[in-house]
Amino acid sequence: MERTLCIIKPDAVKNGFVEEINNLIIENGLQILKSKRTKISAEIAEEFYSEHSEKPFFTELVEFMTSDYSVVQVLQGYNAVINYRNLMGATNPNEADEGTLRAKFAESLSKNAVHGSDSLDSAQREIDIMLKIFD
Ligand code: ATP
Ligand code: MG
Repeated sequence: MERTLCIIKPDAVKNGFVEEINNLIIENGLQILKSKRTKISAEIAEEFYSEHSEKPFFTELVEFMTSDYSVVQVLQGYNAVINYRNLMGATNPNEADEGTLRAKFAESLSKNAVHGSDSLDSAQREIDIMLKIFD
């Protein structure tokens, strides 16, 4: 069984999509082990997205992720990392396949509804960063 880190981002929380997204996650065979509605701090967002710290969109990304409530979740299931990435769809919702979370719920490239770990190593790193949020 794998675990992966899911964030329902501030746009999707504000737009009232948490329950619909979680129903699709469960229908996709994933179990929601932990779930917390929280405002992510700048410190955590910067560490979490540190791979993008040199990118032109980094400031916008951190500002958006800390702007309002998110729902941070640990998912578990068979091939959870790739299973959930496939359910999410492409980063840019204009390129996301029909039926994916980003095609259904994202507003734009930056307000793209959900985050998911992109590898097993990322999942472990991201779950470790978010552990303090679940305390
Ligand atoms: P996430 O890590 O949030 O699951 P991802 O792995 O699909 O998304 P990344 O390349 O890791 O995509 O980018 C992280 C986030 O940064 C994206 O989800 C998106 O919101 C934002 N982002 C990526 N590229 C751009 C861009 N060119 N302009 C604005 N925002 C961007
Ligand atoms: Mg990513």
